[in-house]
Amino acid sequence: METASDILVKKYGGTSVGSIERIESLADRLAKEIRAGQKPIIVVSAMSGETNRLIAMAEKIDPDHRGAAYDMLIASGEQVSIALLAIALQKRGIKAQPLLAYQLGIRTDATASKARIHSIDVEPLLHLVAQDIVPVVAGFQGVDDEKNITTLGRGGSDTTAVALAAALAAHAGSSSQTCEIYTDVPAVFTADPRLVSRAREIPSLSCEEMMEMAALGSKVLHIRCVEIAAKYRVKIHLRSTFEEREGTWILPEELGEMKPMNGKNVNSKFEPKVNIKIEQPVVSAVTHDANTAVFNLFPVPRGSTFLAELFDNLAKRGVVVDIITQSESADGQRLSFSVTKEDIPLSRLALKEFMADPAHVTLIENMAKISVVGVGMRNHPGVAARFFAVLARKNVPIQIVTTSEIKISAVIDQSRIKEAAEALHSEFGLDANDAS
Ligand code: ADP
Ligand code: ASP
Ligand code: MG
Repeated sequence: METASDILVKKYGGTSVGSIERIESLADRLAKEIRAGQKPIIVVSAMSGETNRLIAMAEKIDPDHRGAAYDMLIASGEQVSIALLAIALQKRGIKAQPLLAYQLGIRTDATASKARIHSIDVEPLLHLVAQDIVPVVAGFQGVDDEKNITTLGRGGSDTTAVALAAALAAHAGSSSQTCEIYTDVPAVFTADPRLVSRAREIPSLSCEEMMEMAALGSKVLHIRCVEIAAKYRVKIHLRSTFEEREGTWILPEELGEMKPMNGKNVNSKFEPKVNIKIEQPVVSAVTHDANTAVFNLFPVPRGSTFLAELFDNLAKRGVVVDIITQSESADGQRLSFSVTKEDIPLSRLALKEFMADPAHVTLIENMAKISVVGVGMRNHPGVAARFFAVLARKNVPIQIVTTSEIKISAVIDQSRIKEAAEALHSEFGLDANDAS
């Protein structure tokens, strides 16, 4: 029987299985690799656009509904794609079994739409692989203690894949597990290449840097998959479904300055990366999150009790509040906070309880968060000044702003995001034709 460390978890995103033609060509490629001796466990997302289509149907009936029925609905896209890919593999003479989370024991907590994985039983998977049956696992979904179907949050199939790799590593007592994430871009770039045409590929980066980029909205990887990778020392190789070449390695901290000798050999030894930068660039990436909404509340009761109770209520509902600004003036306390678009309905429910007069709550939708990030910012003064100067030059109004040691973020109108991202990318010397 194979040991867990012989097995490679490979995850394919929505575009990779976005049509019957794409599923057929993916099956061709996988069949070739399997015949050449690879032992994959495949994780698949829903066909591109499908999860959005399912959400839109629920929202037509009740835009504020969240809960078990909603998760059951939005998890169904993955059921279709794993079944289709299994059929395509079987047509090519490969034994394949599609598996839903409940069949596999992907156990989660009960937080609908943002469930966290508690445990995964890898024995059934190892058993299938030992019989030369390729498991094709539904990403994004889990099952809670009440047997409800749960989902892990948008983009959560990455987390299913890395959690599986972590569970295999733990089972094998191995620290060399790799998880391959195949997507529609060939690498992680210094900015979303669809937005900033002069974005550059990043050959490798640490989990810490990738987490920061994901936290700031770079949807190329789900943030929680990077957290799991860091914790269980799983190496993530993000690469293209459509081009056969190496992409970006995201490496746990201790391996951060190392790069695999050969991306094709998943268990290859490590050698020092030759192109280590002697000094970090000040800003290493520009990220954006196009799904931001801002709630402005005025006036709210003075003092911090109101704030504590409101944010506690939001947290209990599973709302992730991002930027918060608060100020006192002669006519009352003003509060603004940003959330992602998906959290608008739950935020509204919480606010109904706390703000008796709806006229005191304004929601600004269609906003985006733009950020510059880089550990090199820690020791360089003046980054904020340059950031604001760029936005001022472009006449881009800022709703709210937040900074930390290694990032600056501003919430701006969605329609201005491209010009702001391009201008910041140039300002901080990240453009493809700048010296690196
Ligand atoms: P998948 O369906 O394969 O999971 P996603 O759409 O979730 O794919 O993520 C891939 C997308 O992430 C790319 O198409 C790209 O537009 C976007 N993206 C955002 N920021 C970056 C970045 N810094 N580098 C590469 N891609 C990025
Ligand atoms: N299908 C889910 C989504 O669209 C999960 C994923 O793609 O990773 O969010
Ligand atoms: Mg994704």
